[in-house]
Amino acid sequence: MKPRLADLLPTGALVPGLAEDLDLAGAGSGEELLARLTSVGPGVWSLPLLTAKGCEALRADLDARGARESTGAGPNSMHSYGAVLADLGLGPLATALRAELVAPIGRKLFASLGGTDLTAEHGFLAEYGADADEELGYHVDDSVVTLNLCLGEDFSGTELYFRGVRCDEHRQTPWSPSEVFELDHEPGQAILHAGRHRHGVHPLRRGRRRNLILWCQGEAGRRLASECGPWCGHAG
Ligand SMILES: [Zn+2]
Repeated sequence: MKPRLADLLPTGALVPGLAEDLDLAGAGSGEELLARLTSVGPGVWSLPLLTAKGCEALRADLDARGARESTGAGPNSMHSYGAVLADLGLGPLATALRAELVAPIGRKLFASLGGTDLTAEHGFLAEYGADADEELGYHVDDSVVTLNLCLGEDFSGTELYFRGVRCDEHRQTPWSPSEVFELDHEPGQAILHAGRHRHGVHPLRRGRRRNLILWCQGEAGRRLASECGPWCGHAG
């Protein structure tokens, strides 16, 4: 039996009742889990995931695992700073986040983009600070569904902005006003969006911010993205 997400996180890290709702989602339709989501813009949802104490405990655990030292070349081409979760011994945590949390949400909210088939994940940390990345340009993720969890700490700036979902072919096309929105990312809160949803991060104005990013992947979504479909926001 695989370890549960709740058992892989520090005690009391998950917001109250979430562990039970994840168990229910594993056994049923996941209605209780979906009821926790708030729509924050077209195709983007937020979910309270960690308590303030949970964020603090997870940050301490990451530091104890050497997260700040293992910056290396960065976890991918977009980030210069931040470690890959599997390299920190947190592969099981990344897997549990995908299987217990993102997969049931993907089946309901991202089905048209291949979210019914999330079989793999790539989890990493993104660090923003005076000595780390200060912003992140406009891009798409190498994922079908992305979970972006803010772990704090104290900061201003780094708002997430979105610019519409596109297929591979239409990735560089303009956006319409209805596709433009941005949001403040509160510590403990997870944002869920399609990997094909074009987005970026505004500059950090003060402090330090650390996010846990989970790219959830699957073959169905990869195939879908290569062909334009009704989900692509490019008109004509
Ligand atoms: Zn398209």
